[in-house]
Amino acid sequence: MPSKVFRDSVQSNPFIFATVILLMAIGCGQSKPIPAEIVGDSMAPLLCGAHLSQRCPQCDCAFVCRIDQNLKTVQCDYCGSQFAPQGKALSADRVQVTPGQIPQRWDIIAFEHNDSTMIKRVVGLPGETISIADGNIIINQNVAVKPDAVSTQTRYMVFDSQHCDRTTSSGPANYEFNSNHWENENGTLLHRPRETTGQTHDWINYRHHRNYPHFKNTADEAAETEWPAIQDNNSYNQNVGRKLNDVHELAIQLDLNVRCGSTFKIQTTRPQGTCFLSFEVDPSSPQYQIEFSDGKRAATAEGTLQTAGEGPHAVSLLFSNIDRRIKVAIDGDVLIDERDKFDDLVIPSKVLGSTLKFGFSDASWGIVTRCRIWRDIHYFAEAGPPKFGLPMTLEQGDYFVLGDNVAVSRDSRHFGPIKKLIGVVQQ
Ligand SMILES: [Zn+2]
Repeated sequence: MPSKVFRDSVQSNPFIFATVILLMAIGCGQSKPIPAEIVGDSMAPLLCGAHLSQRCPQCDCAFVCRIDQNLKTVQCDYCGSQFAPQGKALSADRVQVTPGQIPQRWDIIAFEHNDSTMIKRVVGLPGETISIADGNIIINQNVAVKPDAVSTQTRYMVFDSQHCDRTTSSGPANYEFNSNHWENENGTLLHRPRETTGQTHDWINYRHHRNYPHFKNTADEAAETEWPAIQDNNSYNQNVGRKLNDVHELAIQLDLNVRCGSTFKIQTTRPQGTCFLSFEVDPSSPQYQIEFSDGKRAATAEGTLQTAGEGPHAVSLLFSNIDRRIKVAIDGDVLIDERDKFDDLVIPSKVLGSTLKFGFSDASWGIVTRCRIWRDIHYFAEAGPPKFGLPMTLEQGDYFVLGDNVAVSRDSRHFGPIKKLIGVVQQ
C-alpha cells in the first residue's frame, strides 16, 4: 500500500516544537481506519513521536523525553537527580484514524491545516464560545469537566511515595511527621495508636519538591526552596525553558490499612479556612462514612469495606478537585461527585504545597502504604505568538483543538479553529 509522510517543519523557535503530524496510508476507503504515525511532541507523553526512554538511576522511575541533540543531562521529575541521557531511542507511536465520525469533546482527531496533517484533542465544538482560565477550558462560561478516562489520560504524576520518597533517601524529606507517633519502614508509615481523650490527628505534612533548577523564578527563589508550589513542568520537555504556572487542581490517592474504629483525614489550609476529607470506620463493623467540607459546605457518603471483620482492611482513598469538581472514590467507586456545590472552591497550590497533610486520629491504628499525587493538565492561552484572541465563538464545522503537551504544542491558540476534519483517532 503506498504511503506518504506529511512533514511540517515549523520550528522558528527551537523550543517550540511544531505539531503532531501523521504518516498515513493513501488510498483507503472512506470509512476504513487509516494507520498513522506520530511526529512531534504536542500530544506527548500520551502519543509521542520518536523519543527517548529514561530510567532514573536514583529512584528507578521510568519516563520518556523528547529527542534533542543538545541534551547533555536529563533531570528526573520525581526525585530531581540529573544524569546523562541513556539514549535508548523508541520509535514513534502509531494510531488508527477513523473517518466519518462526528468528534465529541476530548476526542483526539486528525485534521488538515496549511498542507499539514495533524492530530490534537478537541476541546471546543461548533457553536460554542471558548476561553481558557485558571488552567481550565471554559465553554459558554462554564468549566468543561473531563470524563474520568480523559482526566486519567491527561493528568500528570508529581509524587509517588514508592518512587520518590525522600524520607528514606538523601535530600529534604517529602514527609514531615512526629516520629513518636509514626514509624517509617521504607516509606510505609505505621501509626501507633495512643490512649487519648481528644479528637486530634497525628499529621504527616507533605512537602512538594520542585526539581527543575533552570526554571527558577529569581523573584521568589528563596520561598521556592522552602515550600515550592506544584507547577506544570513535564519531564518530556527536558531543557525547554519557560515560565511555569502554578496548578491548583490535584488528585491525591492514599493506600491505607485500617481497622474498625480507625479515623483518617486529609486536610488543606487556605486563607479562607481549611478543607478536609474525613474517612471513619465504625468501631464494630466494616461500615464507613466519608465527609468533605470546605468550612461552609459539606458532602457526605457511606459504604462498606470489601473485607469483613475487624481488619486490617486495605482501602484506597482518592480525593480530587480537578475541573472544579470534588470527587472522592473508595477502592475505585466514586462516592462523592459534586460538580456545582464547590465550583468556586480554590485550593492555592502554594498553600497546598505547604499545608497538605493527612493522618490518623491519635487513637487509631493504621498504615499509609502509598501516597500518589497528580496535577491536572494545565491549559493556558499565553502561548506565543498567539494569533487568535479568546474568547472565541466557533462557527458551524469549526473545532477548537489543543495539544496535551500545552507548553510546546502549536494548536488553535495559534492558528484558530480547524475546519478540515479527517477523522477521530481510535484509542
Ligand atoms: Zn529519580
